[in-house]
This record gives sequence, C-alpha cells and structure tokens, in this order.
Amino acid sequence: MVSDSGLCGRGVREVSNFGGNVRFRPARLAVPRSEGEVCRLVQEHRADGVRVMGSRHAWSPLIRTAGLLLDLRYLDSVRVYEDGGRLLVSVGGGCRISQLLAYLNQRGLTMPSVGLITEQTVAGAISTATHGSGRHSLSHYVQRVRLVHFDAGGSEVVVRWIDSGDELRAARCSLGAMGVITEVVFAVVRQYRVQEQMVPAGTLSEVLRMEAETPLQQFFLIPHLWRFYVQRRAETAESGGRLTDQLYRVYWFLLMDLGLHLVVLLLAVFLRSRGLVRLFFSTLMPWLVVTSWRPIDRSDRQLVMEHELFRHVEEELFVRRADLPSAMALVQDLLRLADDGSWRLSEASCDQLRRVDLLGVVSEIEGCWSHHYPICVRRVCADDALISMSSGGAEDWYAISLINYQRGSAEFWRFAGFVGAALMRIYGARPHWGKWFPEGELRQEHYPELGRFCEQVKRCDPAGVFRRGFVGQLPGMGE
Ligand SMILES: Cc1cc2nc3c(=O)[nH]c(=O)nc-3n(C[C@H](O)[C@H](O)[C@H](O)COP(=O)(O)OP(=O)(O)OC[C@H]3O[C@@H](n4cnc5c(N)ncnc54)[C@H](O)[C@@H]3O)c2cc1C
Repeated sequence: MVSDSGLCGRGVREVSNFGGNVRFRPARLAVPRSEGEVCRLVQEHRADGVRVMGSRHAWSPLIRTAGLLLDLRYLDSVRVYEDGGRLLVSVGGGCRISQLLAYLNQRGLTMPSVGLITEQTVAGAISTATHGSGRHSLSHYVQRVRLVHFDAGGSEVVVRWIDSGDELRAARCSLGAMGVITEVVFAVVRQYRVQEQMVPAGTLSEVLRMEAETPLQQFFLIPHLWRFYVQRRAETAESGGRLTDQLYRVYWFLLMDLGLHLVVLLLAVFLRSRGLVRLFFSTLMPWLVVTSWRPIDRSDRQLVMEHELFRHVEEELFVRRADLPSAMALVQDLLRLADDGSWRLSEASCDQLRRVDLLGVVSEIEGCWSHHYPICVRRVCADDALISMSSGGAEDWYAISLINYQRGSAEFWRFAGFVGAALMRIYGARPHWGKWFPEGELRQEHYPELGRFCEQVKRCDPAGVFRRGFVGQLPGMGE
C-alpha cells in the first residue's frame, strides 16, 4: 500500500495491489492535485515511462512501472448535466465508484451497471472493463473521455476530449495505454430497485432458462456439492423497504460477507484441511442459503457485496454464450481432477485437451488443488469497445471466476494457469484484464480488434511513454 504523501515522493516505498501479488518500487510516485500538474509531470517524465494507478484493485500487473506512477485521487469532482435530453455525469478519473454512486443516488440517479464492489476509481474501473451481471461492462456506457497524452511527434503533452469513433471505442477500455484519463462522461439512469432470490438448480440449462425472468442474475457452481445456486435478480417496480428487506441486508452481511468468508479462511487458510472444506461445501453450506426470501432493495445496494473485506486473488475467464455449457463442464472436470488425482476426465474433456496439446500435461494438476470458494458466473452483454472482454459481435459473454484465499499458494497458480490455457486455447476465452492474467497465452485472435486498438494507442503515444511493462508486451504493442 502507499501513503497519501502529498505531491511527490522520490525513492518511494514499495507499492502493492489489493491481492498482494503485484509489488514494485516506482522511481517516483506523484499525487497531482490538478490536470495541469498531471501534464507537467507526464512531460517531465517522458523518458522514464509513466503509469497511472487507481485504487490498485487489479490483480494483473498493469500498474507496475520503474518510472513515474501517478495517483489521481484528488481529481474526483462529479457533475450531472443534461445534453440533448440525456442525463450524463462528468466525473474525475480518480473518483471512487462508491463516491460517484452516493452522489448520483442523492439525485435519484445511478450507474447503468456496477461490479461486485465499489472501491475502484472511475478511470481504473473502465480501463479494465469492470462489469456486473446482466448488463454491459461500465466501459460500454462511457460517452467521452478526457485524456492527457502526446502529440503526433510524441514530444509534447496535449489534453483533449475523445468522444467518437475508434478512438472512443479504444479509450473506453484502454489499460492505461493511451494516456492519463482525467475525466469521464457516462450515461446515467434513474435509480431503480432490484428483487433477488437465491435458488438451487441442478443443471446449467435450468439456470439459463431462469434468465428470461431474472436477467440480472448471477450464479455459482458450489465446489464439492457440484450443484448450482442462482442469485436471481430483476428490476422491480415494487418499493421494498419492509422490515424483511432490511433484515436481509443484515443476514447477507453477517452470514455471507463475514460468516462464509471466515469459515473459508479458517478451513482453507489456517487449518488447510481439504476434508473440512469438502464437508463444509457438500453438507453445511446449503443450510446457510435461505431460498424463500425475496428481498427488494436499491440497485446500488442489492447488486454489490463487501467482497473486499478479505484479501484474495482471482482469475476470471470470459466465454461466449454458445461455449458456456461445454466450458463449464470442462472447468468442473478440471476442478474435480485437481481435487482428487484419481478422478477420470470425461471423453469430451480428454478430446478437447488433446486438440490443444494439454492432455499430455494434465497430470501437472492432478490432485494439486482443492478449490475452496464458489465459482461465480456472470453474464456480460456485448460492449461497443475495441478490447473490453465482452467486445465484438452481439453475443453475450459469461465470466467464470476462480477465487482463492490461499494467496501464497503456488498450486493455485498452477491450476489457474492450466484452466486459463485450456479455456483460451479451446474457446478463445478472454481473461479479465484486471484479474490474474495467464502468461503467454494471449494471441491476436482473442481480440480481432486488437490491431485497431494498438493503432489508437500509438497515435496517442507515438514514443510509448505509457506503453511499458505488461501493456507493452501485448501482441502488436511493441512494433
Ligand atoms: C475485491 C475485488 C472485487 C472486484 N470485483 C469486480 C467485479 O465485480 N467486476 C469486475 O469486472 N472487476 C472486479 N474487480 C476488478 C477491478 O474492478 C479492476 O481491476 C479495476 O480495474 C480496478 O480499478 P482500480 O481503480 O483499482 O484501478 P487499478 O487496479 O489501480 O488500475 C487498473 C488499470 O487502470 C489504469 N488506470 C487507473 N487510473 C487511470 C487513469 N486515471 N488514467 C489511465 N489509466 C488509469 C491503470 O493504469 C491500470 O491499467 C474486483 C477487484 C477486487 C480486488
């Protein structure tokens, strides 16, 4: 973590991310108080390379730099305005999503989409296409981006609004590669209420059939029980606010946000007992879930949870809807093989792994990892952006996430690396840009518009000042 040490620090302390899996020492950390200052710092550090950090919630090493690291926390203004009958909000890049939602809620408004938590900054969240379930990612709703970048010669800093064409589609999810985002304009919506109900489901087709009625739903594959639980969610015109609705928040906080996580920490992290983890999920966990409750609450309360309370690491892989059944079957098969080395993979899984040269090395994950957290799956609509995970085409994408609380575990990385490689090679799955990223597996084919994205990046930053580290190694970025 870093301190709010005022303007600049040379020889700064180590910077780390939420997961603790990214640690580095930038040459200089600066916390500018104005856009003018951002420009001056970027110009001054042209030769060193510049990266920006938000609230450091990404697990991928996007913010790592040996040069200048900018923290835009003071650029956090928020202003709602109307433009051609549309309600828009203009918000400073360093503003936290929680701050933005609170401001909007006071005006009867909210964001069209939110992720599981609200600690991220606005610029950080759009830079990796942060998403929830049943809507597009936040990036899709970006109307304009104010960007500090370089001129065509690559030597002078310019500041400009980007509001159309490929340039906007690139800036909507730009990984910090185009320049420094100082302000973002989003379309906003009227505040709405969401009703939810947690129900079990035996099969994936049953889960997907529910979507017609509850399009905002997300679902979980429960390890060791190998059944689904669906958090069915839909907008409702009913007002809520009953005592039972309020009690549900308390229940959720105590039993899910705290209780479930404390049990996972106790069994999987402190005791490291595979047997107890299996017992908990296969027999006790279903008792924690109250399936008859149908609480109603404000969208920005119902759609989020306190997932940031306990540190963890996460891999999230996006597959197209058409591939979801087969991808989920493979993930479940691999989870079971990792849990129990004598598990026999299905014929279908063997065929798929053979085709991508992974069957021969599947023994590397046999019995290596017993998963200790529900596998969350969320639907993300196709974005109008060049390289957000759900960009391109019209088909919905499904984000499958593997969450791990044993943060130092090499076995988890081995397992996550194998699953990542398998899904990326077999289905062209896309790893979340802001989550743990399987190394060396990304190809141009995963993002047909990656070439156009690189063009935009190079136009904004011909000398590659922002294109260092992880971003600089992406296919097409270097040349
Ligand atoms: C507990 C937890 C829960 C999460 N839940 C979800 C979820 O539900 N859905 C989801 O999709 N993701 C989720 N994430 C991932 C998170 O939303 C993304 O990693 C997001 O990018 C983090 O935003 P940040 O402000 O922390 O940015 P950082 O992690 O600090 O940076 C992320 C990227 O944004 C760039 N950036 C930041 N600010 C600027 C700027 N001003 N100008 C240019 N580039 C900038 C950085 O350079 C970097 O490339 C979660 C993460 C955690 C830790």
